[in-house]
Amino acid sequence: MAMTPVTAPPTNLLALDVETMASLVARWGWPVYRTRQMLRWIYQRRVREIPRMTNLSRHDREMMQGRAVIGRLAPPSRVRSRDGTRKLMFALDDGLTIESVLIPDGKRLTQCVSTQVGCTLDCRFCLTGRMGLKRNLEAHEIVDQVLTAQDDLRPGERITSLVFMGMGEPLANVEAVSDAVLRLTNTDWGVGFPARRLTLSTAGFSERLHDVARLGVNLAISLNASTSEQRDRLMPMMNRLHALPDLLAACRAYPLPPRRRLTFEYVLLRGENDSAEDAARVSRLLRGIRCKINLIPFNEFPGTPFRPPTERAVAAFQTILRQQGYDVFIRHHRGRDVLGACGQLGTPSA
Ligand code: SAH
Repeated sequence: MAMTPVTAPPTNLLALDVETMASLVARWGWPVYRTRQMLRWIYQRRVREIPRMTNLSRHDREMMQGRAVIGRLAPPSRVRSRDGTRKLMFALDDGLTIESVLIPDGKRLTQCVSTQVGCTLDCRFCLTGRMGLKRNLEAHEIVDQVLTAQDDLRPGERITSLVFMGMGEPLANVEAVSDAVLRLTNTDWGVGFPARRLTLSTAGFSERLHDVARLGVNLAISLNASTSEQRDRLMPMMNRLHALPDLLAACRAYPLPPRRRLTFEYVLLRGENDSAEDAARVSRLLRGIRCKINLIPFNEFPGTPFRPPTERAVAAFQTILRQQGYDVFIRHHRGRDVLGACGQLGTPSA
């Protein structure tokens, strides 16, 4: 049996995908079921120390000492908004920081998870977009945000939905995001979070939508504009990569399971994309797609040239789309006082 010499740096079990964990178990000469046992300790019981894996023999646990660790992120710093929204700020091992937000709403508790440090894209109305991309998150850094939030819950609290809508563009980091989704949704050895309660949001990587379909999670698309010219202005990089007509064609071709629908998000920016004509154009663009629409009134951040829409404009926009038969919701800004709302994550200096 080839043992890793004790002098090598310990393997972070949390950083291994399930196949790599299985080959490690094989290399150590352990039975196949040992993989599942360890994964359950890590993702279901959320233990941080190997000696606590008490259904492994003492001998096996001692063998792992110095060879393996469960490398969870350091405890995050937390801020709490006046409206109850909680923002968790994690320092990663290389000193970069990411943020995750917990948003209570009656009996529901939504966690908003980050997938990149900064973002690949340059959407003009988004603070994260101004940071540029520092790097992709690894699968375990995505999952760790959820594990840590779960450690933090108060008695009786439960995360009821997970949205990949924090910092970053999930479909620019598809491999890690897919692996994270697997670990979060697997009911045998993973966190066991229901896939239908998980939503991944993309700014519009049309050719990667089928990757999302395979994962069984919900898909949200940030439309944010009613014409190609507008989208060019507001989301220049995204629209250059995938033009609006291609995106809508990919949405029409998306293999939606029965009783599911797509979500379209639309940031309302005063005087930019919030007119009655815009609403009418959005209605025409989405015609025939089984979907609902979430309107997000712009959340301001220091240095932005954009302004939030008036309440009247928001209401009018919603009414026009409703009259066309759409289900339209307004995503009220939560956590704005702690810069925890949509588009406010990350600091330009970070
Ligand atoms: N990159 C992905 C995931 C981020 S989700 C995506 O674009 O979908 C963040 C959502 O908040 C997106 O719908 C985005 O359009 C919206 N958003 C970004 N900045 C915002 C801001 N300042 N105010 C309101 N919504 C914003």
